[in-house]
Amino acid sequence: MMLKSFDPSNDEFIGEVVITPVSLIPDMAIAAAVAQKRWRETVIDDRISYITQASKLVEDNAEELAVLLSREMGKDIRRSYSEVMGCAQGAPYFADQVREAIQPKQISGATLEYLPLGVAAVISPWNYPLAMANNLLIPALIAGNTVLFKPSEQTPLIADAYIALLNQILPDKVLQIIHGGKAQGQAVVEADINLVAFTGSMVTGKDIMRRASGSLKRLIMELGGNDPMIVLDDADIGRAAQFAVASSFENAGQMCTSTERIYVDEKIADAFEQRTAAIAEQYQIGPWNQEGVNIGPIINKHQREKIIEHIDDAIKRGARVLLGGSDHPDHFIRPTVLADVTAEMRMEKEETFGPVVSISRYKNIDDAIERANNSDYGLGAVVFGGASATDVGRQIEAGMIGINSGVGAGGDAPWVGAKQSGYGFHGSADGHRQFTQVRVIS
Ligand code: NAD
Repeated sequence: MMLKSFDPSNDEFIGEVVITPVSLIPDMAIAAAVAQKRWRETVIDDRISYITQASKLVEDNAEELAVLLSREMGKDIRRSYSEVMGCAQGAPYFADQVREAIQPKQISGATLEYLPLGVAAVISPWNYPLAMANNLLIPALIAGNTVLFKPSEQTPLIADAYIALLNQILPDKVLQIIHGGKAQGQAVVEADINLVAFTGSMVTGKDIMRRASGSLKRLIMELGGNDPMIVLDDADIGRAAQFAVASSFENAGQMCTSTERIYVDEKIADAFEQRTAAIAEQYQIGPWNQEGVNIGPIINKHQREKIIEHIDDAIKRGARVLLGGSDHPDHFIRPTVLADVTAEMRMEKEETFGPVVSISRYKNIDDAIERANNSDYGLGAVVFGGASATDVGRQIEAGMIGINSGVGAGGDAPWVGAKQSGYGFHGSADGHRQFTQVRVIS
């Protein structure tokens, strides 16, 4: 059976891959475990050397990969190129961080060693189809694990092209790809493996946790978000509006840390709303290869319908339309700005994952903080304002807080969700140490 891939901006057929039969997955896990016995015996410098050579190959093919990424996922070519190059050029940082993570530690009376766990399943989403995979599988490999990689069924071609390049360098069966959807994901979680490293939705994360519990597999999960932004009365309105639009529309709103809910002090709300709508109006929808486009298509029909349902539900319940609204051309969502959004609207309660700016006014900062925290999600949050912004930020229940800026510090900082947005975390030496088993020799 074949998994077909289509251009999300026009449903044109792009290509296909063979779906991995579920019945083959246990054998792939056995082969990965056999390969891991040899892989773990290589010294870390050798593993880094493999990854460095493979990354060079990715860099050499960056333009071709970027075009495929854009065609299959819909984002513009500049963003795709920077995603590919980020993967290729990030390898040395991962190498340094993993080296630090697995360095034996001498403590009083004992030595702590960090051994590879064994076989890791890496399961990834479609919105950053290379970056999300790369962030997990490269550290897993450098730490001495072998990997079974299950990319999203929405973006199989770019995943396949990327893994084919890495596998020109890596030894046999160190990195295997599994194509398919939920059934293949569930089968790899239930196979005889040691760790599941997952990036995707909260619902899937909960299913993975249940299925992994039989043999208490280790889990690292970065899940969805419903990130709030609070705009204080002393915020720079121009900067706040600019950020609100850019962060709500980035990747057509299909970003885990995109701004989903904005609470603005009523004293500056009129000016903020006007400014936001004026900036949003300049955004253009269109396919990845059209000049001047900054909002691409929505990944699929189901996702697009969900966004429209959220917009319609908000309008029906009294939201004011400042831009956009209910009518959208096939495959796309027009840039939309809604005001007077309330706590019972779906847009406020759920992750919308579309190019929509959702604004509410507040009288009292405690009410804004309470609404920001009234969510099972806790990935990121942003506060724009003067001297009290950091204090307000510290009262928000999220793993990453941006003060007058976006979330995530990059470099050596972890990428981390609080509450039900994550379990374990990515990045940094501490994050990569989760790909190891600590052993105490005393
Ligand atoms: P998804 O959970 O539907 O799918 C993610 C992957 O899991 C896919 O490969 C899919 O085939 C697989 N899968 C589906 N059901 C499964 C199951 N029961 N068991 C095992 N695997 C299964 O998510 P998506 O729609 O691909 O991605 C969007 C979501 O990912 C959003 O919620 C977004 O916020 C989140 N995300 C989070 C981060 C982060 O860093 N926190 C980053 C990117 C995306």
